[in-house]
Amino acid sequence: MLKLEKVTKTYKTGDLALNAVSLEVPAGQVVGLIGPSGAGKSTLIRCINRLVEPTSGEISLAGESLTGLKGSDLRRVRRRIGMIFQEYALVERLTVMENVLSGRLGYVSYWRSLLRRYPAADVQQAFALLERVGLAGRHDKRADELSGGQRQRVGIARALEQNPELLLVDEPTASLDPKTSRQIMRLIQGMCRERGLPAIINIHDVMLARNFADRLIGLRAGEVVFDGPPDALTDEVLTTIYGAEDWTQLNPEEGAEEAADEPAVRPQAPREQMVAAT
Ligand code: ADP
Repeated sequence: MLKLEKVTKTYKTGDLALNAVSLEVPAGQVVGLIGPSGAGKSTLIRCINRLVEPTSGEISLAGESLTGLKGSDLRRVRRRIGMIFQEYALVERLTVMENVLSGRLGYVSYWRSLLRRYPAADVQQAFALLERVGLAGRHDKRADELSGGQRQRVGIARALEQNPELLLVDEPTASLDPKTSRQIMRLIQGMCRERGLPAIINIHDVMLARNFADRLIGLRAGEVVFDGPPDALTDEVLTTIYGAEDWTQLNPEEGAEEAADEPAVRPQAPREQMVAAT
């Protein structure tokens, strides 16, 4: 379980990005982190993997404090946290397989990684992950030959190759079209469920968050202003998080189960409303 207790971050500029944020994420839970730009979502994710040092407060993973760690202790704890990035962060000139195996870099010795000699079990796991993310047979392709959706699939496989205890995901669909975005979110959610892996997904698309997260946390001006199931995200709550707006077009179609081969663009509002809005 991930636990944050009164985590506060004030940047040197004086910006208060997080104000005494407390929350717990139990095993297997996929959390969508939503809120307007500047609300503190990235800062929260960065405080957890310690790319940003919290000004005060405590963060722990499975009972071990993450705050205050340095050097090899910090590296050891970072290995327990998988990251998926908006821009995939792949090494373009390396193959898909080499990118996935780089998820093991924190584990294998320096010489082994230099010679790219990974243990057979790591390679086997990487093949299994590539199959699971829908890239079976593509292991020898270079990363720069892939589409955006395929790159993000490699990013997911790389994060899971690390066998993390927690997954942090930063705007995974920001560079993807709507259909691919849904496929990627479905994949992340499914793989987390299969592994009982908790995840925090920083996502600005409220529809995606609502469809693919078990729980939503709404941040506004560095504070948690909503914490609940996707169903509880009413128009009033959206106004609390984002400010006043006409939210009717965000209403999801009740009970619409996702099919694997869904249409590329799914209307977000009844046709009459869409026509009326134009
Ligand atoms: P979000 O991810 O929700 O858009 P951020 O965490 O990026 O929000 O930003 C929260 C607040 O902290 C904003 O006011 C932003 O200007 C400020 N901030 C973010 N990063 C820095 C930084 N490196 N230095 C100073 N202020 C920052």
